[in-house]
Amino acid sequence: MSRQFFVGGNFKLNPASLQASSALIEDVSLEVVIAPPTIYLVPVSQIVRKDVKVAAQNCYFKESGAFTGETSPKQLVDAGIPYVILGHSERRTLFLETSAVVATKTRAAIDAGLKVILCIGETLEQRESGKTAEVCQEQLKAVVDVTKPEDWSKIVIAYEPVWAIGTGKVATSSQAQEAHADVRAFLSKAVSNEVAAKIQILYGGSVTAANCKELARQPDVDGFLVGGASLKPEFADIINARR
Ligand code: PEP
Repeated sequence: MSRQFFVGGNFKLNPASLQASSALIEDVSLEVVIAPPTIYLVPVSQIVRKDVKVAAQNCYFKESGAFTGETSPKQLVDAGIPYVILGHSERRTLFLETSAVVATKTRAAIDAGLKVILCIGETLEQRESGKTAEVCQEQLKAVVDVTKPEDWSKIVIAYEPVWAIGTGKVATSSQAQEAHADVRAFLSKAVSNEVAAKIQILYGGSVTAANCKELARQPDVDGFLVGGASLKPEFADIINARR
């Protein structure tokens, strides 16, 4: 099963200006998704190359109402934003989003017409106690419970071990391959063989130009979700990792 290589750049709360955001995307030479801060989503989407798509870094699960500070999936769709990142470990940890909340957001995002980059991954403590597969499955099961098999064509999974995010400690290619294969095996049982075979599973966590090629050689690594390096010129090398 050949799956299209997919690279996402999560700018997080960087850079501080639209000018910086647009400068970053000038060198991009392949189809890619970038996730600038919310305030820059619309202007970036208006100037970005047509083969580069834009993702929000988060959204709420309600369409409208008294939810100060939130952005609804419908508003993102109305603004022409096709993707949203959900369940990033910074959202789970700093903003206390449980797997149930991430699943509710995923349901709402798909219902509104968004595609979801669904982040999952274990902490160092969980890895060291042999719980990587269990943790990823718990995070995925919450979404399985609120979706139908056809919804999974709207989902891209990003396996992002928490201990690798922003730390410079990248997973080895065999650690990434093992986790990705486990995710696929779980989806095969929990959803369907077809979904498991088709779904793109990205690796995220300290991906750089130096380590991306080896990771990209793994059969179940279908691309990357990149934080820090998406703000640097090496992002173009990461996008081209499979070339
Ligand atoms: C991320 O925030 O999704 C991420 C993977 O960050 P970094 O590439 O900086 O580790």
